[in-house]
Amino acid sequence: MHEGHRKPSEKQNKKSRWTEFFRGLGGLLLDLVFPPVCPLCERPWHRSLKEDLADLHRRLQGEKPVVLKKKPSGICPQCRALLPVVIEPFCLKCGKPIEDDEAEYCYDCSHHHHVFEQGRALYPHTGPAKRAVYELKYGHRRRYGAVFGREMAQRYGDWIKSLGIGLVLPVPLYKTRLKERGYNQAAEIAVSLAKDLDLIYSDQALRRVAQTKRLKKLDPMQRKLALKGVFEADLSKIPVPLCRNVLLVDDIYTTGSTIDEAAKVLKRAGAVHVYFLTVTIGQGM
Ligand SMILES: [Zn+2]
Ligand SMILES: [Zn+2]
Repeated sequence: MHEGHRKPSEKQNKKSRWTEFFRGLGGLLLDLVFPPVCPLCERPWHRSLKEDLADLHRRLQGEKPVVLKKKPSGICPQCRALLPVVIEPFCLKCGKPIEDDEAEYCYDCSHHHHVFEQGRALYPHTGPAKRAVYELKYGHRRRYGAVFGREMAQRYGDWIKSLGIGLVLPVPLYKTRLKERGYNQAAEIAVSLAKDLDLIYSDQALRRVAQTKRLKKLDPMQRKLALKGVFEADLSKIPVPLCRNVLLVDDIYTTGSTIDEAAKVLKRAGAVHVYFLTVTIGQGM
């Protein structure tokens, strides 16, 4: 091929420069109106205007934007330093932190059968992580979902790859609740996780076809009954090898009854292994 064919024309070059410039300007304005905040302390990330302007200039020169592309976001260093994360020893099945170094499973997993194969969580359900999940769910902090999705991709990317997971599904909300809230918090997390790891994402393969009562006050048996028939799965549109190993994404793991019910329905629809990832995990079980 001729050298000339590969080089973009002067006109194209100019066009892409302006596109880059406006993209940068758009990002800057958006951040001025809605500054990215740390989901744990809710303090905005400070960036100097000088850096932003230097970046816009760079874009106009046709150089690569560096500052805006790498702008800080997510959990701030101060919060990260103090944040309790789930570390070993944790239950090999559900990922819940356990106190006994020798034990393989938590009390719940060694006494009850789970339909899912395995799961992990980012943080114990306490302190700032607990509050951030609450805000994501009930406080209209939709953007926190992407932060947690990225955290999951970083922390559990290797685990996900080692399991041969091809499909990422959020635990769905029923349509009336989705309308009330405006978004599904689990979907916000799952989209960003799937994007970061280049996995297939679907919000149609698993659907909630009935509203569930609040599960909080129910015991495990009552939860199981309350969840019966609330999910429907259709994996027929997902290419075969990808739909075999499925990752369910949710905000909190408590007793696992929701994940189990979803896993049961997914397995009936053709999934072979079902795993899960949640932002937080309850400890008192
Ligand atoms: Zn913070
Ligand atoms: Zn467990």
